[in-house]
Amino acid sequence: MAPATGQRLACDLAGGLFLLAVVVNTTLLATIRSLWIVAPLAVVQALLLLGCQEVKHLAAHRSFLSHRGLNDLAGNACASLIGENFTAFRYFHFKHHLATCNDDDPEGSLYALSWRTRWIWALAPLEVFWVAFHLNRVGGGLVPADRRAAHGLSTVSWLLCATAIALACWLAPHAFFWAYAIPLCISGWIDFPLTQAEHYGTAVAPAGTRRAAGELAHDVTLPFGLGWIMLHRSLHSVHHRQPNAVWIAAPDRLREDASATPVAYADFARRWLREGPRLWLTSTVAKAGS
Ligand SMILES: [Zn+2]
Ligand SMILES: [Zn+2]
Repeated sequence: MAPATGQRLACDLAGGLFLLAVVVNTTLLATIRSLWIVAPLAVVQALLLLGCQEVKHLAAHRSFLSHRGLNDLAGNACASLIGENFTAFRYFHFKHHLATCNDDDPEGSLYALSWRTRWIWALAPLEVFWVAFHLNRVGGGLVPADRRAAHGLSTVSWLLCATAIALACWLAPHAFFWAYAIPLCISGWIDFPLTQAEHYGTAVAPAGTRRAAGELAHDVTLPFGLGWIMLHRSLHSVHHRQPNAVWIAAPDRLREDASATPVAYADFARRWLREGPRLWLTSTVAKAGS
């Protein structure tokens, strides 16, 4: 069901304010030299970078901004921050929604390669670029023939962004470290449990199996209203139930769903430390491991 016009406008306004916050915080980090100010702002920047990755995700669903061109521009810009091709991500992610946790899910090959050690949490900032490489490679092959031009533009976008970041490292190292490198590391460590939680423990079904999408995913709740700065990225079951719904209404949808079983961030982190990394346990792999 299409969102009401008022709700759509509120969502556009919230999206615009989020992007403004990213620009303002980046400018402050690039210009202020006091460690007492830049250190806390770098933590805010880490949360904003997580929000940027949710902008990419929402834009892939064409639900971040109602203007189609601006929506895709924001998606390309945010994907480019971590070297991802936005168009490749879009079609990779569409297939994930169509084949969630079955053998056709393109996320499967990513988790099948996962190391079993819990130390991978420490490597989360590096994993961001490994995942980007995987998404670009696999997602590139899923782009339909009539979207190849958009795919080419997305490649140009992330190459330009990578060049700008490399130049910043050389010409403006203070801005590079405080506005990008350090926040990116922090965001990788904060986000790691959220990525693992998305479909943690869900059994992998044979290709073509149809299951209720929301029941294959988890909702993670965050303290202190932090969900808003990450555009409710952690409510993954809510998202799978209605992938194109407006993001500002996600907490209401969670409250209204009597069957929802959200888990707190710290509780999931404890479960993850007990049970270990998410693996791609198809029935064949599970039998071989038992
Ligand atoms: Zn998912
Ligand atoms: Zn999605």
